[in-house]
This record gives sequence, structure tokens and C-alpha cells, in this order.
Amino acid sequence: MKYLLILADGLADYKIAELGGKTPLEYAQTPNMDFLARTSIIGKARTIPEGFPPGSDVANLAVMGYNPEIYYTGRSPLEAVSMGIELGDNDLAIRCNLVTLSDPEDYSRKTMLDYSSGEISSAESKELIKALQNELGGQEISFHPGISYRHLLVWKNARGRKVNLTPPHDISEKVVGEYLPTGADSAVLMDLMLKSYDILKDHPINNKRRAAGQNPATSAWFWGEGNKPALDSFEKLYGLKGSVVAAVDLVKGLGISAGLKSVEVPGATGAIETNFAGKARAALDELKQGQDFVYVHIESPDESGHQGSLKQKLWSIEQIDREVVGLLVKELDQFQDLRVMILPDHPTPLSIRTHSSEPVPFMIFDKNHPLNDSIGIYSEQAADKGIFFPEGYKLMEFFIKG
Ligand SMILES: [Zn+2]
Repeated sequence: MKYLLILADGLADYKIAELGGKTPLEYAQTPNMDFLARTSIIGKARTIPEGFPPGSDVANLAVMGYNPEIYYTGRSPLEAVSMGIELGDNDLAIRCNLVTLSDPEDYSRKTMLDYSSGEISSAESKELIKALQNELGGQEISFHPGISYRHLLVWKNARGRKVNLTPPHDISEKVVGEYLPTGADSAVLMDLMLKSYDILKDHPINNKRRAAGQNPATSAWFWGEGNKPALDSFEKLYGLKGSVVAAVDLVKGLGISAGLKSVEVPGATGAIETNFAGKARAALDELKQGQDFVYVHIESPDESGHQGSLKQKLWSIEQIDREVVGLLVKELDQFQDLRVMILPDHPTPLSIRTHSSEPVPFMIFDKNHPLNDSIGIYSEQAADKGIFFPEGYKLMEFFIKG
């Protein structure tokens, strides 16, 4: 048996008046998902356990079959794994976004204009992170460039430090004053953020971006702190050899930490526009070339949700249907035994522009065991009538063995 898991990040949403009371998933044209749904097991899973924030880290961990209550050690350490950065047992890894803040002189009165600095290119952001490292890096603190607006700060021997940090995508268009680092040990981070603004605001790369009508990356913003992860291998837990196809370091790092092989896809961005078809091709090829399990992650609907763009969200759902699920449907005959699961990690509703904790709809299609009495429709509402997993991490075992 081969297993393909298609993770459409942030796919689930609420009903939208503009769509005649439908959700984007219900409204979008998805002939391929509809085709699979007709004979699939459909239901919901709670991927965010009580008391956890609805982050992609917690949610993807659960979807991958790991109980977050046992395995979760923070987001950034997983990204560090993907970036090839060795963390010491006592180091704190912290996500460093490059963000666009508004102009008021007093930092606390600035507004979070863009958590992604206009999805800044990796080449540009690498220069900016280098500037921060040159001016602010040292024995204890180091900046490491990642992809687009997503970078990493490593704070040596800082395990157990008390800091409370806020994800910048949770405070779009808000004044940042209430969301600055707090906690007994936060002064170091606050100081770095203030200095980063002075270093970045008039950097030649930002001047160029302004001139081109793009959002400048005017500040570092820290969040998602954590310690080195220790996951049992996926093979040990589920008896399958697998691969992960993902562009974002978080999911890549999660896969690598679980012992999955990470597959690079040219043109895969972790942004709204990505190489959908290339990711699908890579995932199917992995299965054909001997892997038992592939986890293919697509960030696009989540980014659309954060940006509050209904048009983009519909487009990204239809792209996933056409380019990813479509290719799979076309090649179904090439697999003897194949099970497919499609689901988001968490909802990213357009109306709130951030993640929510509600259970997510999933569908499981088994090529050789079509379900004759299926609910038949893959949507948030239809899935309410199906099987429910209050502990979302148990869905993996059901997918594989059930
Ligand atoms: Zn997510």
C-alpha cells in the first residue's frame, strides 16, 4: 500500500456572505476533489489540542501523527533542523520575521503593515539578515537567513529564559505596542528589535523596494521560540518509509526530524504562487520510486487567508485541485494500492486573517476500497456528519491501518 497525504495549509474557512453563504472550499471549482470525495471517508479531526495555540507547528505535528502534548518543543527548532543549523541542548531557537512596520518614531506606536515584507525574495532578505548579523551578532546571538521573510535567531544557552512573543501574522494592521516581547528575559529581544529597525529602515535594499512600490523589510520580529526537538521516527511509529515535499522550513524540518526524506522542488516557494504541479510530480515520483508514504504540504491557501484575499484563496484551492489532485487522479491507474488523505492543518479564515482552532475536515480515499455510502462531499459542513477524531494525531494511525 502507498500513502499520499496532501496538506492544504489553512484551507478550511467560515461561511462567507459574498459567496452566498458558502465557504471558499464549497464555492471553489474542485472537480478532482469532488471525484475522490464521492467514495471517500469524510470527517473531522481536532489538530489543535486544548490549551495549545493554533500554530502550523502544533497542527502539522498532529497531522503527521505525533501527539503535540508529548512532542511539541516549539516551532523554530524545527525550522532550524530544515535550515541545517545545529542547536545545542540549551539553545533557544527563535523565528525572526522580516516585517514591514509603519513610520512613527516611537517603536511601540508603529503598525504591523505586513508580516511578510511583501513576500520579500530570499536573495534580498539574505543581505538584510547579514547586515543584522554583522551589527548585532556575537557570542550569544546569531542571525541565520532562511526563505523569503522567514529567518532564525539562535540565542545560546538561553534554555528556560522567560519570554512571551506574538506571531506577527496575528496582528496585521494593529499597533504593535501591546504585542512587544514581555517576560522576565525579554529585554534582550526587545533591544534587538529596536536596533534592527535602525539598521534596516534605510538599507539600500529597502530603498530599492520602496522605489519599486514593494513593502520594505523595516524590522526583525521575533516569535515561535523553542528548544531542540526529539521526535521518534515515523518509520518506528508507523512502519513506513517516507518523504516530505514542502517549501516551508517548518514542515520540512518536521519531516526531517521524523526521519522522512526531504525532497527539493524547483520553484516551490512557500508563498501564494508556487510550483503546484512540480510538487505533485515530485510526490507521485517518490511513491513510484519506492517510498511508502509522502507528505506533500502546500502553503498557498494559508498565505491567502492571512492576507485576507478571497480571490487568492479561491485561486489557490482551485490550483491545488487542478495541479495536485488533478495529476493524482490522472495517474491513479499507475498505482496498485493507494490511499490518499486530503486535509488542512488548521483553518485560516479570511474574516480573521489568522489561524483558528476548530477541527479540520479531512477525506480519505482508498483506490481499491471505494466507500459506497460516503457522505460524498468534502467541505467543512459535510464533514460534521462524518467520523470525528477529538485527538487529531490519532487520525494518522487510522489513515494507515484503519
Ligand atoms: Zn498552517
